[in-house]
Amino acid sequence: MALHKIKPANQIVLDDVFTSKSLRHCAAALKFPAGEKLPRDIYELIHDELMLDGNARMNLATFCTTWEEPEIRQLMNECISKNMIDKDEYPQTAEIETRCVHMLADLWNSPQAATTMGCSTTGSSEAAMLGGLAMKWRWRERMKKAGKTSGQPNIITGPVQICWHKFARYWDVEIREIPMEHGKYVSTPEEVIKRCDENTIGVVATLGTTFTLQYEPIEEIAAALDKLQETTGLDIPLHVDAASGGFLAPFIEPELRWDFRLPRVHSINTSGHKFGLSPLGVGWVLWREKHDLPEDLIFNVNYLGGNMPTFALNFSRPGGQIIAQYYNFLRLGREGYAKIQQSCYDAGMFFAKKLKTLDLFEIISCGDSGVIPGVCWKLKDDAKVNFNLYDLADRLRYRGWLVPAYALPANCENEVIQRILIRHGVTEDLLLKLYEDIKDGISHFDKFSAPGLSSKEASGFQH
Ligand SMILES: *Cc1c(COP(=O)(O)O)cnc(C)c1O
Repeated sequence: MALHKIKPANQIVLDDVFTSKSLRHCAAALKFPAGEKLPRDIYELIHDELMLDGNARMNLATFCTTWEEPEIRQLMNECISKNMIDKDEYPQTAEIETRCVHMLADLWNSPQAATTMGCSTTGSSEAAMLGGLAMKWRWRERMKKAGKTSGQPNIITGPVQICWHKFARYWDVEIREIPMEHGKYVSTPEEVIKRCDENTIGVVATLGTTFTLQYEPIEEIAAALDKLQETTGLDIPLHVDAASGGFLAPFIEPELRWDFRLPRVHSINTSGHKFGLSPLGVGWVLWREKHDLPEDLIFNVNYLGGNMPTFALNFSRPGGQIIAQYYNFLRLGREGYAKIQQSCYDAGMFFAKKLKTLDLFEIISCGDSGVIPGVCWKLKDDAKVNFNLYDLADRLRYRGWLVPAYALPANCENEVIQRILIRHGVTEDLLLKLYEDIKDGISHFDKFSAPGLSSKEASGFQH
């Protein structure tokens, strides 16, 4: 049936969405569109294109929240137009952000929990920039006080997330990253101390590394830095990247001393949108005591009608994520967080036990102490198989699972590992399905691959 060239308006409304003009042609991709379209049609078009994305709940590569309570969605919706930077216009959002900072300071045992400084960020990356900048500023002050000309600043880290490489490059700081060794995937106090000098702005230790999920030995590193100060006078601050661990250790291992109980720890960052259980777009950075944050870095914003100190790289930012974080704190409390995180650890141990029955994999990390909930494994050195972990990751993708395989950083580039994160909503029941798909994948390779067929190059590390 021929369609008329120009349709009357009522006909356009009556059109089935898939016979509408918008959906009978490919959408613009590169040129800015000329005319208007109906919201319904464009919604369908975009909604359908997004089907090609992976399913976030089956993305076991991410540390980030992929399930939220309906009340969180409701609050996010109610806050969609609120700009958190307009502190004068939205004083309650500003107040709630401040409450979250002090609740976190309390959770992390700051001696000045009610008055110390901190702020929300878009995530741990921005928080790391702020923590790093504060260390750089304080180092410069130290040098000035000592009457020394400051040289090239450096920062010492274990195997860090990429945000610290960005910090180093963007702010012109040399990064001294301690390389991994076979079977040793986190830093040690000795390796840290070896690299310290008067131009060291600080040391970064990670509570849960992205590569193998393990906590670095923070208390030991702090003690070594204390001893370094006693013997040499070098007073080097410790920053803890607790992107994941900041919302795990306080609930599951409250006796683990990694936080502001250690005077050496001057600042901590975390991702609210990881084990903080908030939707994507919130992180936090806190200083142990008020004076740990140089006043120089604080801007007093007054042209919005108020006079508020701000310290951030961004200006406008949505307020909903902060509100959702506060919701979680009130809704769950220590008890609720502990229950959720423990169930994730339990599910991880359940899965690792299943994997072990296949007798092909060496479990690198899994447990409920000293690690992020998840399982990290590699092929046993003597495993006689005709696939590698990249092949297995591809195979799992057929079923919708996103399970990354990646090579470790220097000096373990030859070790390929596979890792799943177990977050809120990744249940034993789902993991049983994953395990069955791994088994099916292995028998597929047994049947169809010629021995020694696959040896793909290491590809980029993602999470
Ligand atoms: C995820 C992560 C980051 C980056 O955090 P975002 O919230 O994604 O910006 C930094 N450090 C560690 C250890 C992480 O796990």
